[in-house]
Amino acid sequence: MRILVTGGAGYIGGFTARRLAALGHQVVVYDNLSAGHRQGVVGAELVVGDLADSARLDHVFVSNRIEAVIHFAASCYVGESVTDPAKYYRNNLLNGATLLEAVRRHGVGRFVFSSTCATYGDPVTLPLAEDHPQAPVNPYGNTKLAFEYMLRDYAGAYNLGFAALRYFNAAGAAADGTQGEHHDPETHLIPLVLQVTLGQRPNVSVFGTDYPTPDGTCVRDYVHVEDLAEAHVLALGKITPGSKLAYNVGTGTGNSVREVIRTCEEVTGKPIAVREAPRRAGDPPVLVAAGDKIRTELGWAPKYPDLKAIVETAWRWHRSHPKGYDK
Ligand code: UDP
Repeated sequence: MRILVTGGAGYIGGFTARRLAALGHQVVVYDNLSAGHRQGVVGAELVVGDLADSARLDHVFVSNRIEAVIHFAASCYVGESVTDPAKYYRNNLLNGATLLEAVRRHGVGRFVFSSTCATYGDPVTLPLAEDHPQAPVNPYGNTKLAFEYMLRDYAGAYNLGFAALRYFNAAGAAADGTQGEHHDPETHLIPLVLQVTLGQRPNVSVFGTDYPTPDGTCVRDYVHVEDLAEAHVLALGKITPGSKLAYNVGTGTGNSVREVIRTCEEVTGKPIAVREAPRRAGDPPVLVAAGDKIRTELGWAPKYPDLKAIVETAWRWHRSHPKGYDK
């Protein structure tokens, strides 16, 4: 298939583009490199372009005869979305709408969307199933849910088939250590902890120690980035005209912030200095996926079902690339 991957120079997009290319698909990555890395594009053609540029998009759709779109390009920090919601509505919703209009103009029938468990808001029941009420508690989640609504309406009216994949916490790196996570600034827990091990930070903050969880810290469902990438491949194969699919992508296992830190100590063999800090705004105590639907309907099964194996791959990447993709 000829597939356009927006945001394919980013973390999850990069792994997905690489996997699709390895499977023999013709992959075009469309990325403005505002957060992505040229070196993160493996096996695909990179077009440096902005989603707001509909003429450029038209050219890319026509010249590559695009048959499917996987849409990753977005802003994705909960905290920043609270202080700068305009950026989130512009990037995630307005630019997303520009892309979707191009999809409609060019009659593309398959669309996979990077959604998030943040569309559920504060869990009413756990683990979170796909039919849990969607009531986001921050602008990031609002923009992602708004785009899901757009997709549902477009699918009904224009015969577009889509799958929204609601990610839990992406983590880990390629087993061979050649591809991994590089955000600037870094805000994610596992890379921050490993940066302490590498001597790049004095300590890691634990945001909140008084949550109603077994050890008082937040519990999250960490899923390996290659398992996430595979979910896109499987979802793409499931889409037919007009389908409106939604799947959680998580292992179904929760780990607390303290467990993550302890696992990193175990994997690296080094103690990690911790600083207890106040809660971070917008963080629910527990986010864990009910993963049955994607397993049953798509046959998805994580290759990395446990945290230690995930952290081992992340450590291999960070140790061999202490500055990420930068020289
Ligand atoms: N977290 C933390 N210290 C940090 C960064 C994150 O305690 O320096 C916690 C955060 O509150 C959340 C979990 O780690 O409970 C995962 O956060 P991350 O930013 O990695 O992913 P998110 O859930 O925001 O996508």
